[in-house]
Amino acid sequence: MESFQSAKEEVKRAADIVELIGQYVQIKKAGQNYMGLCPFHSEKDPSFTVSPSKQMFHCFGCKRGGDIFAFWMEYHKVTFPQALKDLADRYQVTLPEKPMTPFEKEKMELKASLFEVNRVAAEYFHGILTKSEKGRSGRDYFTRRSIPKEVIREFCLGYVPDEWDGLIRYLSGKKMNLDQAAQSGLVIRKKTGGYYDRFRGRVIFPIFNMRQQIVGFGGRILDDSLPKYINTPETPIFHKGEFLYGLHASHKSIRDNGRAVIVEGYMDVLALRRCGFQEVAGTLGTALTREHIRSVKGYAGEAVVVFDSDSAGKAAAIKSLTSFMNEGLSSKVMVLPEGDDPDSYVSKNGLRGFLSLLEDAVPMFDYYLDSKLAQKEDAVERQVNLLKEVLPVLARLDQVSQQSLYLRRLSEKLGIPESIIRTELQNWQKHHMGETPEDGLRERLSASRAKKVDDLYLLNVLIHHPQAMNRLMSLDYRLILSDPVVVGIFDAIHEIYEKEGATMPSDILESLKDEQAREQFREAMLTPPIFADEGVEQALNGFEEKIHGIKMTESKKKAAQQGDLEGLNRILELKREREGRVI
Ligand SMILES: [Zn+2]
Repeated sequence: MESFQSAKEEVKRAADIVELIGQYVQIKKAGQNYMGLCPFHSEKDPSFTVSPSKQMFHCFGCKRGGDIFAFWMEYHKVTFPQALKDLADRYQVTLPEKPMTPFEKEKMELKASLFEVNRVAAEYFHGILTKSEKGRSGRDYFTRRSIPKEVIREFCLGYVPDEWDGLIRYLSGKKMNLDQAAQSGLVIRKKTGGYYDRFRGRVIFPIFNMRQQIVGFGGRILDDSLPKYINTPETPIFHKGEFLYGLHASHKSIRDNGRAVIVEGYMDVLALRRCGFQEVAGTLGTALTREHIRSVKGYAGEAVVVFDSDSAGKAAAIKSLTSFMNEGLSSKVMVLPEGDDPDSYVSKNGLRGFLSLLEDAVPMFDYYLDSKLAQKEDAVERQVNLLKEVLPVLARLDQVSQQSLYLRRLSEKLGIPESIIRTELQNWQKHHMGETPEDGLRERLSASRAKKVDDLYLLNVLIHHPQAMNRLMSLDYRLILSDPVVVGIFDAIHEIYEKEGATMPSDILESLKDEQAREQFREAMLTPPIFADEGVEQALNGFEEKIHGIKMTESKKKAAQQGDLEGLNRILELKREREGRVI
């Protein structure tokens, strides 16, 4: 356990939280800290804060935060042991044997073995495409599509001949467990026993996660038979709608350009990459999910969704509008000419043609309004129908600032004054949401009032002025603290203090059990000191005075109630105590 803890400390020393988070989230220096848009909740104004001096991150919006391990776990959705392993690998720290629960161990081992079987399978597919006589039709296909060797290598593309057991024989030869191959979706168990290959006679596109591991595969048939594409089914490491194809290779360009271009298919991504256009990722043929949007939001300020002009693509793009709006990621639509997809379009018109079309991309909201207004109904009927559709979307928007922006746009497009639309929106909200915005506001205001100023001050002194620890711990702080979470923090520190004496704030943070307490503590750590060092003494005197006052009032009340001598004595004692201290 001891060496386990020290490995964790060693990783922390080796890592730089700004560098690590900066690879996944756009953060900019702001004073002593770095700020950016939170990857864990939707926001338009940055409240995600990374502190290099404290090696800690905290979001003032959703309150998520912690050290590099907390970030890794939250961002990659992995357990702590997995995060420790990943980061130890990354910073070349050797881990001791890990104490894990049997369940954790089993789960981690299963996932690791699925990644491994995928890796070996990809090696098989790639080997056939690049080296084997059996890979000729795959090679011909990629040559026809002008996909160069470098792209084939970078994306580890492959080919699998039309055989029932090619992969099975390869995996068996490598002593791989076929039951795990079945769990990873590569082979299918026969009812009569034994297995057969899922992917047969297809070019293969391995799908990578952001940790550069292969989570699954897509396979495209080369003739006209159906289905044209098949994907790995849901497995413990692959969930449809979670991964964007190519993002593992594109995220740096997306971050540098501040823009992500989202296409539908594997070949669309590769066709653009081969022309040198890097900031692109694909949805694997599913609708764009909020998770997809969240995964690019960390890198880009804007997403351009490219789709074919067929109506299915159009409907899908419009569906994602609400998600974009709610995630606060600005979205545009780029429409290709009838019958084209990005792959065929760049083949015909080159990258320049694509880029000029990209320049003409329109905001998705405008696109949506225009396509609605183009429908064949009479003008008033159209407007009514449109408002019926749009108002619920606007009403659900998390941010008021966004709402105003869209209201203005709507007013321009419809030629109806903004005030009228706003009134309609409010009417709609009153009737459908049960709760008016004012209700929420009242709640929020009363919550913030409940957080008494004394709590914030005391916590601030505790964190920024370690020299005041002794005096703080001798105070009856419970008398002036009102927030139970802050009381809990002080109690926890008091316990450590009694046992070990004064400690550093960063050590305290680790020992807090309650998540709410950790949130408050992190926030206090990132809040600048309220008092200058020379003012702390005076502040502490003030707290003491206040506590004394409370004690006096209570004692007087008691004495008056009971009329007893003991109560009066207590008051005198307190008075003496007070005078003694002031002198
Ligand atoms: Zn957040």
